[in-house]
Parts: sequence; structure tokens; C-alpha cells
Amino acid sequence: MPESFSQKVKSQLAAAEVRKKCCRRTGEDLEAVRESGWGAEKLSSVWNRCRCENCRAVFFRGIFCAAGSVTDPAKSYQLDMSFPDRESAEAVRDMAGEIGFSFGLASRRGRSVLYLRESGAVEDFLAFLGATAASFEVMNAKIDREFRGNVNRQVNFDTANIEKQLRAVKKYADAAEKLKAAGRYDLLPEEVRFTGELRIANESLTFEDLGKLHSPPISKSGVKHRLEKILAAAEELGENGT
Ligand SMILES: [Zn+2]
Repeated sequence: MPESFSQKVKSQLAAAEVRKKCCRRTGEDLEAVRESGWGAEKLSSVWNRCRCENCRAVFFRGIFCAAGSVTDPAKSYQLDMSFPDRESAEAVRDMAGEIGFSFGLASRRGRSVLYLRESGAVEDFLAFLGATAASFEVMNAKIDREFRGNVNRQVNFDTANIEKQLRAVKKYADAAEKLKAAGRYDLLPEEVRFTGELRIANESLTFEDLGKLHSPPISKSGVKHRLEKILAAAEELGENGT
């Protein structure tokens, strides 16, 4: 079975070196609190004994390794820390708030769960814990996703425009067919038929470009005007039924 992203983060954190005495002490105290099943007061007393910024990182690293999980950033962004009681969860939420992380709190299957659901927050929290490589993965996943989103939007936009253009051309082709079937096409002025044939044969060209194919060239509105004559003639046919 492949290693989950959570497991990967936890192995990165477990391998992080703790040098300072105060930080090692924090780690040991937190471990004791975890073994005793958490508790808001016990957690607060360890937190309040933190001496340095790294003590705080060690504190949250211990909590995350024991109670946390994080989703694979290729799929979604969510980091959770789950506690058996609401008081512990609230205490940890407040401590995280002190260092600038605002966790949501939810009840799930009888447990109290702190969560982050925003890529930037997940990325920052992992970096704070010391899981730098995992934090980069979250950032890269986000960039990939935004890039794919932009490409998809552009493709959809282009496809929509092409379809719109083809529908417009088909309108003239249908009108010409209808007139031909009724034997009325040849009654149209020659220049109108010429422009109509150009339109149908060059479905990707704009009115302006079609105008340039005439000799002498005609304007965009000239092209439009002639094509409208075809539509009008076909429409008239429809109304008369002949
Ligand atoms: Zn320390």
C-alpha cells in the first residue's frame, strides 16, 4: 500500500532534529499529556512553559503526529487534529490562534476536530511544524490546479466561440439550401450568391476577412448586408410556403 501524504508528513516531522533543551523538554511533556489522554489544563500548562518559538513548533508537532492528519494536496486541502473532548480541542484552537493559525472546530463521530481547509493555511502550518517539503507539495499542487483551471477555461472559451461561429455559418448554408430546393437561389443577385458561397466555404473567417476576398474588396457591413439578403429570402420562402 502506498504511503499516505499524512504518513509522509509525519515521517518528515519525526526526523526533524530537536536541539535545544527547552524544546526537548516541551516534546517530553507533551508526550506525557498525550499518553494521559489530553486535557485542556495539562495542555495549557505545557504551552505556557514553552520558552522559544521552536518549543511551540515542537508542541504542535507532537499534537499533529499523535492526533493529526492531512489530505493529499493533489486531491484536496484539509488538515485535521482530533481530540476525544471539546475542552482539549478548544484549548489547542486558542493556542494556535495565539501564533496566527485560525482553526475551525467541528464535532465528528463523538470527537472534537480542529481543521484547516484552505491551501495557504495548510501550507503555512506544515511549514511551521517543520514539514518544509510537504509544505512545498501543497504549494505546488495549488499552482498545478490553478494552471489546469486556466487552461480548461481557455479551451472552453475557444470551443464556445468556434461553435458559435459554426452555428452562424450553418444558418447561411441552411438558407441557401432551402432556396436552392425551392429553385429560388438563382433569383438572388449574383454578388449576393458570391458572398454567400464564400461564407459557406470559409467558415472560420470573419466578415472583415471575407470582405477582402472580394474584388474589389467590400466592407464588413457590406458582407453582412449581402448575407442578410440570403436569410431574408429564405425566411420569406418559409412564410409563403413555396
Ligand atoms: Zn525551545
